[in-house]
Amino acid sequence: KINIVGEIKGEILKGLICEHPFEDVNSIVLTADFVTLDTGTGCVHIAPGHGQEDYELGLKNNIEVYAPVDQEGRFNKNVKFFSGMNVFDANEEIIKKLKEIGKLIGSQSITHSYPHCWRCKEPIIFRAEEQWFVSMDKTSLRKLALEEIDKVKWIPSWGRDRIYNMIEGRPDWCISRQRSWGVPIIAFKCKDCNEYVLDVNLIENVAKTFEKNGADIWFEKPAEFFIGDYKCQKCGSKNFEKEEDILDVWFDSGVSFSYLKSRYNYDHPVDLYLEGSDQHRGWFHSSLLASCVSYKRAPYKSVLTHGFVVDSEGRKMSKSLGNVISPQDIISKYGAEILRIWVASEDYREDIRISQEIIERLVDSYRRVRNTFKYMLGVLSDFDSEKDYISYNELSPLDKAILNRLYKLEKKVRKAYQNYEFHTVFHSIHNFCIKDLSSIYLDILKDRMYVLSVNDKKRRASQTVVFEITKTLALLLTPILSFTCDEIWEHFNIKQKKESILLENFQELPNIFENEEIEKTFNSLLLIREDLQKALEDARRRKIIGHSLDAKVILYLPENLRDVISQYFEEIREIFILSQIEIRFEGKGYYKGELTNISVDIYNADGKKCERCWVYDTTVGEDSNHPTICKRCRDVVSG
Ligand SMILES: [Zn+2]
Ligand SMILES: [Zn+2]
Ligand SMILES: [Zn+2]
Repeated sequence: KINIVGEIKGEILKGLICEHPFEDVNSIVLTADFVTLDTGTGCVHIAPGHGQEDYELGLKNNIEVYAPVDQEGRFNKNVKFFSGMNVFDANEEIIKKLKEIGKLIGSQSITHSYPHCWRCKEPIIFRAEEQWFVSMDKTSLRKLALEEIDKVKWIPSWGRDRIYNMIEGRPDWCISRQRSWGVPIIAFKCKDCNEYVLDVNLIENVAKTFEKNGADIWFEKPAEFFIGDYKCQKCGSKNFEKEEDILDVWFDSGVSFSYLKSRYNYDHPVDLYLEGSDQHRGWFHSSLLASCVSYKRAPYKSVLTHGFVVDSEGRKMSKSLGNVISPQDIISKYGAEILRIWVASEDYREDIRISQEIIERLVDSYRRVRNTFKYMLGVLSDFDSEKDYISYNELSPLDKAILNRLYKLEKKVRKAYQNYEFHTVFHSIHNFCIKDLSSIYLDILKDRMYVLSVNDKKRRASQTVVFEITKTLALLLTPILSFTCDEIWEHFNIKQKKESILLENFQELPNIFENEEIEKTFNSLLLIREDLQKALEDARRRKIIGHSLDAKVILYLPENLRDVISQYFEEIREIFILSQIEIRFEGKGYYKGELTNISVDIYNADGKKCERCWVYDTTVGEDSNHPTICKRCRDVVSG
């Protein structure tokens, strides 16, 4: 039963001196905001040597950092009555002692949270120990590091704020660890006056010994072995002990850039550091500090972070969920190309998803790209780029339009590589293969390739374009589809090629390929083509025609499309893949376009179907020597 005899604010108790129940020491009452009302009333006992908040409060109030517990968790010899006893075992004994001297008011067990080891779940004891620190502020390391952060390109850009805030708010860097093995901290302490030896030559000598014998010699030999005739600069003693602590492993990895310089002569700052987004706290962080200390600048020019690999629902991979997909499995089932496509095609700035379906989809994409190349190499089978190449000015508007798109693609992809946007690389090229090549250019090309005579200029012009496309796409895809592109290169007829495509460089396309004028009309033309294809589809459904080559089309155009169509007039039949087309700027057809304001009438084509080119023509049957083919084909066949 509790009687409240009065209430006071904690503030009033501040500065009071309390007497220890059985030791000859006094304690002072402090105030702190980590003591909360919901845990009861009274004073909270702190021990600056045994907890971070306690330590910080002690530091602020000049309280000695007293830590009378040894490495085994036992009270040391400074502790009266309980010296040598495990701190948890001592609890009972301390209560007994308090009772014995009549200082105990009461004791009971309460349940509360207590820090424990994440691994073995045993309770943890915090102990303040002497450590080695790199000061963040004594030599303005923090200021320099923050300045350097803004000279680095962070990809994605939020990485900058992340590391900036960490550096801005971090405490001094504790670089020592107490482990039985690691990279030793090279330091000697005078046993007589406790002064540390700070001598560059001495440390340099130790480094040389390490180079010869390995760093383990530090743990095998006594201090005298390294220190030789050296005398303490302060007291003249030759009595030294060596430091037994090792370096924080983040220090080891944090100086990797420096090692690459001394070992392989790779200069720093390096172009790129890349790792998961947890490394703003780890490797990126320690590397930045280590480099700022030693070289007064960041060790890298850019830093890239990526998300983690998760399954198709965004869950972490784990054996218990059964959703683990190992890279090795993908490689053995689909090949390394597919794995690389997956890596390159996902946006790594987010977590990266993988699943059987995602992989299957990429296998399809890969096949489409591969088939496109296969087809193009077929187109080029009788093309000699030295003899048959047609100069740009002689190309048709359609050829130029595709080259313009290739030009833009090449620029976009190279820029994407430079910005590490690999998903843009594969998606853009895949898109180009599907949309611009398979369903437009290569489709239209068939007539030219297989009907015209081998050396026909129009045919050679198309081959010239396909030559440029094949070369450019193969080079651009090499970093991702290395094996496939190397195989393409092997079958690609180009002069002065290297032994492997992996030895080639990207090649910029000539500026003349850029043609915005033609892109504008080409775009409109493709819209007309799409409308027309729908009209043909409609005619097919109504059984007027089968293949589009069965059709004769009357295309009614508004005035504003006159320029567009006139530019492509000579190749319009091929572009639309028809047997006959008539263009009118007056009147209306029965089928209305959806994307453009064209209209269309579709009839059966005039004449008979040519056996060779499949185009209907009234000239089929004219010549009794070649009764089944059209005039165009007759000219080719009879040379
Ligand atoms: Zn443990
Ligand atoms: Zn000394
Ligand atoms: Zn023909």
